[in-house]
Amino acid sequence: MEGKEKTEGELLTEELCWKFPHIGKKESEQFEEASRFCEGYKLFLDKCKTERECVSVAVDMLEKAGYREFNCTENYQPGDKVYQVNRQKAILMTTFGKKPLAEGVRINGAHIDSPRLDLKPYPLYEKSDIAYFKTHYYGGIRKYQWGTIPLAIHGIVVKKNGEKVRVCIGEEPGDPVFCISDLLPHLSSKQNERKLSEGLKGEELNVIVGSLPFMDDQVKEPVKLLALQLLHEKYGITEEDFFRAEIEMVPAQKAVDVGLDRSMIGAYGQDDRVCAYTALMAEIETKCPQYTTVTVLTDKEEIGSKGNTGMDAFYFKHYIEDLAESCKTPLRKILRNSLCLSADVSAAYDPTFSEVFEANNAVYMNRGCVLTKYTGSRGKGGASDASAETMAQVIRIMEEQGVYWQTGELGAVDQGGGGTIALYVAQLDIDVVDLGVPVLAMHSPFELTAKNDVYQAYRAFKAFYMA
Ligand code: MN
Ligand code: MN
Repeated sequence: MEGKEKTEGELLTEELCWKFPHIGKKESEQFEEASRFCEGYKLFLDKCKTERECVSVAVDMLEKAGYREFNCTENYQPGDKVYQVNRQKAILMTTFGKKPLAEGVRINGAHIDSPRLDLKPYPLYEKSDIAYFKTHYYGGIRKYQWGTIPLAIHGIVVKKNGEKVRVCIGEEPGDPVFCISDLLPHLSSKQNERKLSEGLKGEELNVIVGSLPFMDDQVKEPVKLLALQLLHEKYGITEEDFFRAEIEMVPAQKAVDVGLDRSMIGAYGQDDRVCAYTALMAEIETKCPQYTTVTVLTDKEEIGSKGNTGMDAFYFKHYIEDLAESCKTPLRKILRNSLCLSADVSAAYDPTFSEVFEANNAVYMNRGCVLTKYTGSRGKGGASDASAETMAQVIRIMEEQGVYWQTGELGAVDQGGGGTIALYVAQLDIDVVDLGVPVLAMHSPFELTAKNDVYQAYRAFKAFYMA
């Protein structure tokens, strides 16, 4: 108010107290830029529903941006851009910086696997004239959420002759989709008494794939046979080929705007493709940085980062070792001086379920990206607790560029918890802290993010590489 002087208390409050601002209230014009940025993000989500699809789209984007496959015998100059693919399911990329590698690299790691339903190795069966796929869920899902929604099938099959076939049904206009049934309310009184976690049980996640028979009285399982015949016509595969396959059932829903104000995005797999996309864009747009960048899009985070495409495997360390050898610097020295963002999402405060959050330390949609000092559960069990020094370094980088950020915990104490790739990076003697985007309904088939926050994550990752 003009002419009205602030009281001593108001001035002191301004000086001493802190509240994270709402971007829409503080700088509403950023929403337009954020929305533009998110158009690309939505397309990425639609093309990238599996880790393999993420890698293949990333390779296309990188090649277009002038990246070449990394060759450890080559002598790279500042500004050169390279990438390396790990088993089609993880990818590493680098922009060489002006400083010697001995001063450390700047790492940004996001994961590109998301919770889903994998087909079992021997999936196809027929029961009472309906053909089904048996599934085994991957990652933390609330099983009841996966019934009665349209599902698409994505994956690859390696045929006996070694030929690799990409499978995808349910994404193109006019494609059929698939579905898991649930009971009608009229007959569910007994099911209603189950615990919510058993609303649909693991062995009830059976995907309906057909209901018509192959016309021959002599065939014992004609509906299954017709399904196989149709798969054979489309992909040239037989039942045996499922043993050499990785097939995932994912929500068929495309990424869409949510809300009258179109302020949010609803889509499957935003944990953690929201960080994968923003990290990838920041990496691509980084030209001639001070520090050499290492962006890694990794697999298997949702099942504990195990396996040779997860961050608990050596492939990440080996890549930095290759960088080290190419410039004759001891690996240890690089690791010790490096700084890493573990780019992963956090749970946004949900007013409907406020009791699992502690309001002062929750993260909120539209207040920017989230810097999370520690994750873990109970007494910080299993956490990589970032040091005050690391927090200071990352906060300074973001504030220099006017990035909107907030901090908070994943839920109230003893309500649960979770982990990220941070601890696997930390064990390599690298400073690391989590930075990501708040997500509502995380791990559900339709996760929500705010466009403002997605955009701030991208700005933070870019600032981190350019600082
Ligand atoms: Mn995640
Ligand atoms: Mn997750």
